[in-house]
Formats: sequence, structure tokens, C-alpha cells
Amino acid sequence: MKKRIAILGSTGSIGRQALDVIHQHADNYQVVALTTNRNVWLLAQQVEAFRPSYVGIVDAESAEEFKNYGLADLELVSGKDCLVKLATLPEVDLVLVAVVGIAGLEPTIAALEAGKNVALANKESLVAGGHLVMEAARRSGSKIIPVDSEHSAIFQCLAGCDDPARINRVYLTASGGPFRNYTKDELRHVTVEEALNHPNWKMGKKVTIDSATLMNKGLEVMEAHWLFGLSIGQIQVVIHPQSIVHSMVEYIDGSIIAHMGKTDMRLPILYALSWPERIKSSVGSLDLTAMEPLTFEMPDFDRFPCLALAYKALEIGGTMPAVLNAADEVAVEKFLKGEISFIEIPVMIEQAMKSHKAIQNPDLNTILRVDHSVRRQLM
Ligand code: MG
Repeated sequence: MKKRIAILGSTGSIGRQALDVIHQHADNYQVVALTTNRNVWLLAQQVEAFRPSYVGIVDAESAEEFKNYGLADLELVSGKDCLVKLATLPEVDLVLVAVVGIAGLEPTIAALEAGKNVALANKESLVAGGHLVMEAARRSGSKIIPVDSEHSAIFQCLAGCDDPARINRVYLTASGGPFRNYTKDELRHVTVEEALNHPNWKMGKKVTIDSATLMNKGLEVMEAHWLFGLSIGQIQVVIHPQSIVHSMVEYIDGSIIAHMGKTDMRLPILYALSWPERIKSSVGSLDLTAMEPLTFEMPDFDRFPCLALAYKALEIGGTMPAVLNAADEVAVEKFLKGEISFIEIPVMIEQAMKSHKAIQNPDLNTILRVDHSVRRQLM
């Protein structure tokens, strides 16, 4: 029987690549629902190709525009609630949460509470509300299968070991981004175009800028903390410019298990869709003898303060990671619009963190309220 899938955020980078994977494995998967924020042109094409029963469009005006396409046999749900509604459809087996930002939090919790397995590509839901997401999964027994390449790698290296006491540490690999070797002074003058030019991975804009500041790795430290129940001291970031090793787990006996593969997001996407099975893919093999030597170095917290801020937010806990996350989203947006410089991104985030007093063990409403107020202050 085909696995029935809802993709939240099907017009984004992960959503498009997921549909590419599903297209190649049409015997295994059936697309039940697709959603977009406002890219109705692409959504209409995806509907023609994959024939889902439902579409969700968050932006109400765009939903009206979508009706002009006159697509039949399709239920259209519009507005912010469409994500939760389509994430909890009875006819869905697996929900791929590929929306960007805090918008992923509510539907992720809702899907888990409804007993759906979740292929999770949205970092912010774990960063801002990790305790709520993990609690929802625990209560319902649903599984979270990470799509982020590093966490997919760790998930695979753990091979079902869910006891953090058996783990010395995980090595979260980072490419170091396009500015790995830049001096502090050179970082002052980098342009949006340079920051968007990631050396190894093809990703959306937000995550590409986050990779250049290393905030992406900071968010991933928090993801790993929640997904695998690891303490801060068990999560070590290591710069690995070749991006061949996607992450590693060091067990208490000193054995290290590494995950290697091509730098193609379709690989972790396919694994998240096919888990617990493996399916033959067209991504192809690594040519071990043709690769550059693999190198590993410590990250520089001084040149890349975002990483230090993320560790600090995780240490403080409560609502602080949500503050960091919201401030980062605003700062990245402002950088992309040319309103602030690259090195002002961490400055803005640090200021937001300094002016916030963390609330411990926040509920969903508290997290959303804090998120909202940080954005309002910084915009
Ligand atoms: Mg990643």
C-alpha cells in the first residue's frame, strides 16, 4: 500500500525536492495534501502533477487567486489554520513539515497529537518549542524522523539507540559556509549575493544566510538536544568543509559511527519518507577515491558569534531560544533587504536576548506571544 503524505510548504526548497523524490517513487507514495504560503502558480502545477485531494493556502488573497486556476476534485482550505487542518487529516500517514519559521510549530504538534509520524524539516518548531513537540510525540507514540541532513545522519548512526547514556557525544558537522576563512574585517563588507552563495548545499534563502553566520548550526545544536535527548556538553560542532560526513555519533566505548553521502537533500528526504525501510535512489554513489581529503576543525566562536549565542540560549532555556529564533528571522530578513550588514545580524540577536527575561517551561501560547513581541520590537 502506498504511504499517504501531506506536505506542508510544498513550494519551498524542501517541498519541491520532496515532490521530486515522490515523483521518482510514485509506486510508494501518494500525495494527499499540499500547502503554500502564497506561491499559487507553482502550487497549481504541483496539483496538476500529483493530484492531491486537498490544498492549503495560508495567504487569503492568494487563495482567491488560486480559484482562477479552476482545478477540479480538490478541497481548498485557506488561512493560517490550513496547516493544522491538513496535518491532521485522517487519510494521511506521514506529514512532511517543510514550512520555514515558527509557523511550523503548531502543525507539528497537531500532527503528532493526531498520531501521525512527522518528517520534520522545520528547525524552528524544535528550537522554540522542543519540549512541547517531544512531549506530543511521547504521548501519542508518533515518530519524528528528521529531514535536516545532520540530524538524519545522527538518527541513522544511532540506529535505534535511544539511551543518551551510551553516547559520549555527537559531532554535528558544518561546512563553515562561504565565509569560513574570512577575517572579522572582511566579514564587515560581505554582500547579500556572496552570503547566498553556499559552497556545498542547495537550500532556501533563510537557511543559506543562517549557514553563512553559523546560526544554522546553532539552531541544529538545539534540534539535536531535543530530538535525541542530549545535554549541551554532548553536542559538538565541527567544521568539515567537504560536507561528505553529514554527522557522527561517538559512543561511550570510543567508537565513532559516521554517516557519509552526497550533498543532496533528496537523500535525507527520501530516508525520512521511506523510514524504517530503505529505497533504491537515483542520488548515486560517492566516489571515495576521487574526493578531496576530509578535514575537521573547531568552529571560531569569535568570528561567528551566532553559534555562541545559540549555545547560550539553549543553556538559559525556556523562552530564550524562541527569542533567538525570532530575532534571527527578523535580522536575516533585514540583511536580505539590505537594511543591516552581515555583522549586525548577531548584534541584533544579542540585543533581543539581553532585553528578555526567560520564562521557563512555556506553553504554546507563551512561546507564540514572545515570538510575536520580539518581532514587533525589532521590525
Ligand atoms: Mg542542516
